[in-house]
Amino acid sequence: MSLPVVLSLIGTRPEAIKLAPVLRALEARPGRFRSFVALTGQHRELVEPFVRLFAIRPDHDLEVGRNGQTPADVARRVLESLGPLLERMRPDLLLVQGDTTSALAGALAGFYQGVPVGHVEAGLRSGDPLSPFPEEMNRRLISRLAAFHFAATEGNRRTLLAEGVDEARIAVTGNPVVDALHSIAERLEPSPEIARVVEEAAPARLLVLTTHRRESFGATMEQNLRALRDFAERHDDAVLVFPVHPNPRVQEAAQRVLGSRPLVRLLPPLGYLDFIYLLSRTRLIVSDSGGVQEEAPTLRKPLLILRENTERPEAVAAGVARLVGAGAGRLRDSLEEAWADGSWADHVSEIENPFGDGRSGERIAEVLPCMLAQVRR
Ligand code: UDP
Repeated sequence: MSLPVVLSLIGTRPEAIKLAPVLRALEARPGRFRSFVALTGQHRELVEPFVRLFAIRPDHDLEVGRNGQTPADVARRVLESLGPLLERMRPDLLLVQGDTTSALAGALAGFYQGVPVGHVEAGLRSGDPLSPFPEEMNRRLISRLAAFHFAATEGNRRTLLAEGVDEARIAVTGNPVVDALHSIAERLEPSPEIARVVEEAAPARLLVLTTHRRESFGATMEQNLRALRDFAERHDDAVLVFPVHPNPRVQEAAQRVLGSRPLVRLLPPLGYLDFIYLLSRTRLIVSDSGGVQEEAPTLRKPLLILRENTERPEAVAAGVARLVGAGAGRLRDSLEEAWADGSWADHVSEIENPFGDGRSGERIAEVLPCMLAQVRR
């Protein structure tokens, strides 16, 4: 029988980061798989540096990218372009990652073409179908469409079982973001710009912020940015560093509330090495991102999560992160509490990472043949 063909779909930057270790593990087994990569081409300027950093070699470009697309636009364009590619290639497996609209549309395209879908980072749930929007519904629907589920944690596996997923189709592998971070740990050389940001801040300590999720837009983001600005102004031992997402709504709020403040550094979106270097040098992280909730425990850094709920309760349960919610009053109190000497944040460096040991890509590649045998004709 010919070698199984695996096609991996990459849309956004977290998909590139988290599928890179899986691709490396597949490529390390040339006698067992033929591995191909399709890029959707969304957010090209954000994603391509990650593709280069992790030496991902794309075989197909779906050219979905256009600025200002709605989730419906992305879904339609992925379906239109991936469907014919699947029809031509007939892969044995389509791998999608996470909770993006591109991953959902990819899973649906696979389903329509009769191609089994493998879901990396399966079984995350916030509990609220509308938040984060549309990611929570995307991941629920991907679980219904997928044939194989690669769960990061035992808790994710239990969630899938409770929803009726066959246990033979689930493997607990850890999250490949941990592998990705380990793979760059020795290469953490910052660019001159970021080295300067860190040097100029000393002896003050860094407070790194990322925020770009739809639920945060408008009044919530405004209040959060004001609370952070006021905190930096009250504490002369704190410098707020904010790599600002290119979304115009984030750019506008960041400039208006934080622009030209001496204790605030507004930066463009950073390359992964620079961003991880910055996190590794920070006292405290404040973020609404999903990936940062896994990176903080891997780097053993304390995190305040700017959300009402999280689909990654493991970081909170382990004691690395605290859920702040959307209210500015709670953010103000949480910042003060975490920043104080001797606070919970000082103990995070001793906590074991709940998201895995850095061998997730290897585990996925190891269990795949057995899983594929369940469906291969
Ligand atoms: N990230 C980065 N540079 C930045 C901000 C974020 O490299 O300036 C990385 C971050 O480490 C994380 C990923 O981008 O792994 C997060 O992507 P995003 O916040 O877009 O998505 P989410 O994690 O919320 O799904």
